[in-house]
Amino acid sequence: MIELTLLGTGSPMVDPNRAGPSTLVTAGGQTFLVDCGRGVLMRAAAAGAQAAGLTAVLLTHLHSDHITDLSDVITTRWVTTIGPNPLPVIGPPGTAAVIQATLAALAPDISYRIGHHADITEPPEVVVHEHTDGVVWDRDGVRITVAPTDHRPVEPTIAFRIEHDGASVVLAGDTVPCASLDALAAGADALVHTAIRSDIVEQMPAQRIRDILDYHSSVQQAAATAARAGVRTLVLTHYVPPLVPGQEDQWRALAAAEFGGRVELGDDLLRVTVGADVEAG
Ligand SMILES: [Zn+2]
Ligand SMILES: [Zn+2]
Repeated sequence: MIELTLLGTGSPMVDPNRAGPSTLVTAGGQTFLVDCGRGVLMRAAAAGAQAAGLTAVLLTHLHSDHITDLSDVITTRWVTTIGPNPLPVIGPPGTAAVIQATLAALAPDISYRIGHHADITEPPEVVVHEHTDGVVWDRDGVRITVAPTDHRPVEPTIAFRIEHDGASVVLAGDTVPCASLDALAAGADALVHTAIRSDIVEQMPAQRIRDILDYHSSVQQAAATAARAGVRTLVLTHYVPPLVPGQEDQWRALAAAEFGGRVELGDDLLRVTVGADVEAG
């Protein structure tokens, strides 16, 4: 069984009710934070997860909305753990430089806390793994595979497939439809995908907003990817513009035009569980 919780369903557009892009995935006693947007630790606490208990952070790409709260995750894990608790971070090439710069920005804070607390003697430890494809994690029954996505000119960008005990979820991140995502998502129980209402965004007067259309999937494109991959459930997130309560059926209808499976969308903390025992139960 794999449980996924949308911690943040927002986007760079600030919304008082939606945290930034981030999804929590738990499987086989391991807890993965996929992307790390605005307000993620507040939502993680509401979902029962703490920074200190994360097994690893997985980053689909280095766009600011997906990594704004990296420093919060790193610092909070560090100060709430007794003894060493290295944080594995798996992301595309470029991740190590971002982590290094984040730690550099935290240097004053790190020196204050080491100076003040007798039991903090080492800076936070982050272990970065950079990948664009292949198996990146295989531990205690949980396997994670990555594949490149297409969010150009942002590159490289990756999607994650997390498998445990016959269940599988794929986290696409921000991407236009592409063959490598189709292959990674093939046959998965659930696909978590960024979705843009292209019908609304293309009417917006600001060119800077309309620019986002060329490197994200519309709701219909995300649904078509789900259909090609033959997944059972499509989970939409990272709504642009923000999903207005009451308009869920509009989004569902756009997805249903391309995909006959189950479609999940909603507010932060929406939880979706997949796996054999769920089907049976
Ligand atoms: Zn992006
Ligand atoms: Zn984004």
